[in-house]
Amino acid sequence: MPVRWAYTTLRLGGPAGALAVLSETDEVVATVRAAADSGQPLLVLAGGSNVVIGDAGFPGTVLLLRTRGVRVVDHSSRGVLLRVAAGEPWDEFVADTIERGLSGLEALSGIPGSAGATPIQNVGAYGQEVAHTIEAVHVYDRHSDEVRVLSLPECGFAYRSSIFKHSDRWVVLEVDFRLQAARQSAPVRYAELARHLGVEVGDRTGVARVRETVLKLRAGKGMVLDPEDPDTRSVGSFFTNPVLSAQDWVAVQDRLADAGEPPSWPAPNGTVKVPAAWLIERAGFGKGYAGAGGVAISSKHTLALTHRGGGTTTALLDLAREIRDGVRDRFGVVLHPEPVLVNCVL
Ligand SMILES: Cc1cc2nc3c(=O)[nH]c(=O)nc-3n(C[C@H](O)[C@H](O)[C@H](O)COP(=O)(O)OP(=O)(O)OC[C@H]3O[C@@H](n4cnc5c(N)ncnc54)[C@H](O)[C@@H]3O)c2cc1C
Repeated sequence: MPVRWAYTTLRLGGPAGALAVLSETDEVVATVRAAADSGQPLLVLAGGSNVVIGDAGFPGTVLLLRTRGVRVVDHSSRGVLLRVAAGEPWDEFVADTIERGLSGLEALSGIPGSAGATPIQNVGAYGQEVAHTIEAVHVYDRHSDEVRVLSLPECGFAYRSSIFKHSDRWVVLEVDFRLQAARQSAPVRYAELARHLGVEVGDRTGVARVRETVLKLRAGKGMVLDPEDPDTRSVGSFFTNPVLSAQDWVAVQDRLADAGEPPSWPAPNGTVKVPAAWLIERAGFGKGYAGAGGVAISSKHTLALTHRGGGTTTALLDLAREIRDGVRDRFGVVLHPEPVLVNCVL
């Protein structure tokens, strides 16, 4: 029976070979450098809300990032530039920006994890993503063995992706966000959020109102961590929304038959983004669908695979595989996992 992984929101996975809890950026760099010099495997972990760790655990050192701090480094006509340490809890940072009267991150309220992990998969929700406000990312580059500052274009941000994802080259140390000194939010881009706020898409409204509304919407979907709610013992969305070429989209539409037409959004270069949750439901996996061994689809959100207690990573991945294969057989679309899989495969 594997030891429960205490540092992930899924509460799954085996033990670490060693654990280093670090609160100083210099220590982080020194520890990563030492591991590279000695050829030891090292895993950077912060909030543990976007990883699936195998039942055998991680044989090397797990570096738990606990660096803290937020400071204003520029205040000009372009807005306020905040530099946040990688280990700063993301939602505390978002709340802090709203208290300071800054807009730009309000729709990203309630997302678990750390500020430093947000560039990894270009964290996004309710029409905002961090690529909209990141100005620079301060990293330790394991290849060149130096601390570097990467500009926005160098980060290669795309939908739930960046140069940092699935690469162990970079350790994010600090992130610079350019926010606007405004009590009014950035334009509301997401229809469901606009509806709940009673505004039109593209309108602005109070930043604090947007935060409150997003938190309410997220809680209703089990998307705000709550130790009392097993629906939140997840990694959030387990699969990304598939982005299909125009040709593949036509092929999918041919296979829809009685499933009805899914909602879809135009994506870059003539592609189409389709909600994974819609495909999963129409393939026969509804909310609450249980796999064998203590895992199930959340009762509130089809995209969240949850650990109900007494489960294993193997059981979770078996359920994920069943869903992925069911969607592929029904619609010919292959779903891809959003979290980073460590010592396990789907
Ligand atoms: C209930 C719930 C809701 C969620 N909702 C959303 C959502 O709305 N939108 C969204 O985008 N995500 C969402 N997520 C996913 C997750 O919260 C984010 O991806 C978050 O940014 C992960 O942060 P973390 O600190 O927990 O990262 P971790 O899980 O600790 O790490 C994730 C990956 O990033 C790497 N990493 C972490 N920090 C660093 C660093 N400083 N330098 C280099 N690599 C690093 C790790 O090695 C790992 O590969 C949700 C998760 C849960 C549990």
